[in-house]
Amino acid sequence: MDALQYRVVIGLEIHIQLSTESKLFCSCPNRFGDEPNTNVCPVCLGHPGVLPVMNRRALEYALKTAIALNCRINTFTKWDRKSYYYPDLPKNYQISQYDLPLGQDGYMMIESAGELKKIRIRRLHLEEDAGKLIHAGDYSLVDLNRTGAPLMEIVTEPDISSPEEAYVFAAELRRLVRHLGVSSANMEQGRMRIEPNINLIITEGDREYKTPIVEIKNLGSLKAIERACSYEVTRQLANWRSKREVMQPGNKSTRGWDEERGLTVLQREKEEAHDYRYFPDPDLLPVVVEEDMIENIKRDIPEQPALRVMRFRRDYNLSDVDANTIVEDRRTADLFEEAIRLGAPVKVLANHFISFWAMYANERGVSIADLGIDAERLAQLAKLVNDGVINSTAASKIAGIMLDDLSSPDKIAERENLLQLSDISELETIVNEVIAANPQAVDDATRPGKKQAKAFGFLLGQVMRKTSNKANPSLVSELLRKKLYNNGSE
Ligand code: ZN
Ligand code: MN
Repeated sequence: MDALQYRVVIGLEIHIQLSTESKLFCSCPNRFGDEPNTNVCPVCLGHPGVLPVMNRRALEYALKTAIALNCRINTFTKWDRKSYYYPDLPKNYQISQYDLPLGQDGYMMIESAGELKKIRIRRLHLEEDAGKLIHAGDYSLVDLNRTGAPLMEIVTEPDISSPEEAYVFAAELRRLVRHLGVSSANMEQGRMRIEPNINLIITEGDREYKTPIVEIKNLGSLKAIERACSYEVTRQLANWRSKREVMQPGNKSTRGWDEERGLTVLQREKEEAHDYRYFPDPDLLPVVVEEDMIENIKRDIPEQPALRVMRFRRDYNLSDVDANTIVEDRRTADLFEEAIRLGAPVKVLANHFISFWAMYANERGVSIADLGIDAERLAQLAKLVNDGVINSTAASKIAGIMLDDLSSPDKIAERENLLQLSDISELETIVNEVIAANPQAVDDATRPGKKQAKAFGFLLGQVMRKTSNKANPSLVSELLRKKLYNNGSE
């Protein structure tokens, strides 16, 4: 079979739950994990005659995201009722925003194949979440704790051209909202849910054919986005070969992702343009966003994480992985840069961040910024290593002590007897002892061959052990070379 020429076209619809204290239109806690149906009140239960009141914090969070996504802000907006009947939304309508979304025509930059690529944002609006249905065999249960939780819906233009790019975009958006502090975007908890719209443009000769658009519902992990989109590309190609079906009004379908079997399953075919019977909610006032609210929020918008990663790579000469690790948490990245401003040597500091600081943070289930070590002390520790006062093994140990001890790192090094051994004559004695005690290794190390490097490493290790790892390793290495090869280089 000839290889088909085709392009992948993906647009994403993303729902992100905002991390406000209370729900969007009532004062119920915006919290899950509690007993089902305990965080509810007449407003979110949709009792007749109640009046919803907008949560201002939710508006601020959504605005902040819209601004960070370079959207045009609709300073006059309103709430609309989207009618639908479903047991997880007792009002039988969802309060959403229809023709005047909070933000429009924005974009976000992602890195794709080493280049920056602009993905346009069509709209961003606020709406209330629905409850959760729990299907248990032949009956279903409903938990309304989530009903009325503030939800931000973000829709991209179909600018994404591969399953990998869909993954990268979702990961970048998740990192952005975390940096903005507006959502935990925890996907396992359903706080970020993604629905790709995907089809192919197939080229045959000088003609192009578009395959019918498929919407994949509610993906709950980054991996699932990439896998589900990849599966759809393969399926739509096979489908084109057998049926040559092209996109036309009314043949969009909805499919679900079966994680275990690794395939999408048809849910609804020939989906009609839904008649949601949108109309302005008569219970809620229109929303007027004041200019100074926008200005205040703008001052608080951090550098976009993807751009910060690029800057870290360029300015600090960090690898992609290291830069991403440090930038992942905004305050950790701030702390890193603060320590550099205070004179920390960049390379050593970065090593400390990605090795033991990350490890201690992990053990405690917090970020490095939350370990409680200020930039000054982080810088001091890095300087001690850089100046050869301690080695990195000692640094890791001292760091562990610093977590519960406010003494300066050099005081701790002294007290714990961790100062690096740089006294040449003392080291020379130990090197001589090790050489005398290991004739076989010395023989291997001085004879060119497979065993040479390993034997040298063994002797170095012996010296380090004899000094309880306090020796300066590069000094030991230099001394060993001198003794074994009678010069300073191998
Ligand atoms: Zn409520
Ligand atoms: Mn929605």
